[in-house]
Amino acid sequence: MDQQDLGTDIEKVLVAEAQIKHRLTELAADIDRDYAGEDLLIVGVLKGAVMVMADLARALHSPVRMDWMAVSSYGSGTKSSGVVRILKDLDTDLKDQHVLIVEDIIDSGLTLSWLLANLKSRGAASVEICTMLRKPEAAKVEIDVRYVGFEVPNEFVVGYGLDYAEKYRNVPFVATLAPHVYS
Ligand code: 5GP
Ligand code: MG
Ligand code: MG
Repeated sequence: MDQQDLGTDIEKVLVAEAQIKHRLTELAADIDRDYAGEDLLIVGVLKGAVMVMADLARALHSPVRMDWMAVSSYGSGTKSSGVVRILKDLDTDLKDQHVLIVEDIIDSGLTLSWLLANLKSRGAASVEICTMLRKPEAAKVEIDVRYVGFEVPNEFVVGYGLDYAEKYRNVPFVATLAPHVYS
């Protein structure tokens, strides 16, 4: 899929497909280096992290285990509710595991700080975070994010796993939507 397939829906492309691919290679190299000799469990947060999980995992040079969690904080709108609910829990026991949470985007950071505390409380040896995108608001929360793909401005973005009303997740780049899409 490319921008032309989407007609007038896209306002601005913030991160192009090639940039994402290149940055994932760099992040994967950092992760390979940091976890050399360790077993790693990467945990994708559904549904947004599906694309970054799939691409990041394949860019790594060591075999990892993959598990998934689904939490809800946003609904189908564009505002964070601050309320986190587990919709699907992990199948893996985290005791003594090195865990890397893989996220699509950190906005308020509310979801992630909750998730971090939750996974740490299960006895993991370590819990770190990798996010493809981070917004400026995230600077206000006290979470240490070890791996960040790109900083994006404080706008609602779609693509590369991120949706608007469940659409646009399969757009291979990160973009803002034209105003007419929301009306
Ligand atoms: P936070 O709790 O950090 O505010 O955001 C939690 C979740 O809200 C993210 O994992 C993501 O699913 C969603 N979200 C935050 N910002 C955006 C955005 O700009 N676009 C989309 N589509 N989802 C977002
Ligand atoms: Mg997410
Ligand atoms: Mg969403």
